[in-house]
Amino acid sequence: ANTANTANTANTANTANSANDELTRRWQGALMDNYGTPRLPLVRGAGTRLWDADGTEYLDFVGGIAVNALGHAHPAIVEAVSRQIASLGHVSNLFVAEPPVALAERLLQLFGREGRVYFCNSGAEAVEGAFKIGRLTGRPHMVATDGGFHGRTMGALSLTGQPGKRDPFLPLPGDVTHVPYGDPQALAAAVTEDTALVVIEPIQGENGVVVPPPGYLKAARAITAATGSLLVLDEVQTGVGRTGHWFEYQAHEGVLPDIVTLAKGLGGGLPLGATVAFGRAAQFLKPGHHGTTFGGNPVACAAGLAVLDTIESEGLLENVKRAGEKLREGIESLGHPLVDHVRGSGLLLGIVLTEPLAPRAQQAAQDAGLLVNAPAPDVVRLMPPLNITEDEVDTFLGALPGVLDTVTDRTNGSNGD
Ligand code: PMP
Repeated sequence: ANTANTANTANTANTANSANDELTRRWQGALMDNYGTPRLPLVRGAGTRLWDADGTEYLDFVGGIAVNALGHAHPAIVEAVSRQIASLGHVSNLFVAEPPVALAERLLQLFGREGRVYFCNSGAEAVEGAFKIGRLTGRPHMVATDGGFHGRTMGALSLTGQPGKRDPFLPLPGDVTHVPYGDPQALAAAVTEDTALVVIEPIQGENGVVVPPPGYLKAARAITAATGSLLVLDEVQTGVGRTGHWFEYQAHEGVLPDIVTLAKGLGGGLPLGATVAFGRAAQFLKPGHHGTTFGGNPVACAAGLAVLDTIESEGLLENVKRAGEKLREGIESLGHPLVDHVRGSGLLLGIVLTEPLAPRAQQAAQDAGLLVNAPAPDVVRLMPPLNITEDEVDTFLGALPGVLDTVTDRTNGSNGD
């Protein structure tokens, strides 16, 4: 169970001509470097474990950026995907196939509401679907939040509230007002009868696991209801069990959104997104308005059904709550000077540091065999699989103090960079 030590030994043993270096060299020669950071070349996964090309083992608390709901190579997904690809891999939306129908029915049942589902292949596309519905209301204006992330395609980017990602692509489509996240008054001031939709993440994931104050979603619902604007909840990161609820908004009593966008965990590792529209919001898209070749692909939808079935049959919502609490308490009780507090819900957690050293903490963690990521300079984000075991949580908590010490020592030491 001592992943951290195994990884350290193996990392030290890496040679200049390792398989990791070779894969990295080929990657540099063939792929666009759209993130600009050195990246670990990975070749195999099982459950919460990953292995790099040199055979070093890691405990995966990135989870494919909240995608690998059941971890890597879960038998239920392997079985569902294998069975589906062997019988009906793809037919296009010119025809009807069983898996997208079954998955849409299942999702609507989990939402407990009448609605319609539009399947696509990613979170950005799910948001594009909502954007298009907004346009079809005939109202010109949209409201989103500062720091919010909704994807990188042009419509989704227009709603994304992160200047660094938007600025190179201005002008962006749509008349969008961004308001401070978590502030109902700012929202009320921005939303008018010209506002087609308001899009909000129940927890801002990419912005560093930012949790709004209690009552924010409820206020957003009241404000949008008063102007007849659609409330779009972007649950691409928070949905499908990530926070210990099927959908995070269900933890906020009485809030019923008009549209929910999903992706990431929904496909358990296959590309699958969904725009789910309820009530009158489901009436705007008419035949001819929107479409996609791959959306609703039977194999991706079979994987989606396996994810939902397994969350239910293995009681994973409870596991998420248990493991999330254990992680939060375990981290906060370390009393480490670099840790301010832990925020988030279920297994979407942000360790808020007392100094902006998250990128260094991410590297130190990787060197110790733990994969985490740093969405903000002072936030280390944890998004392990929903079926993570207690032992794996213990391994993480056992290795974390050493990781944090390394960061503090390097920073304080005279040889620091
Ligand atoms: N919305 C949210 C809330 C997200 O977190 C993300 C991805 N991080 C997206 C949309 C975009 O998803 P994708 O990368 O699949 O396009």
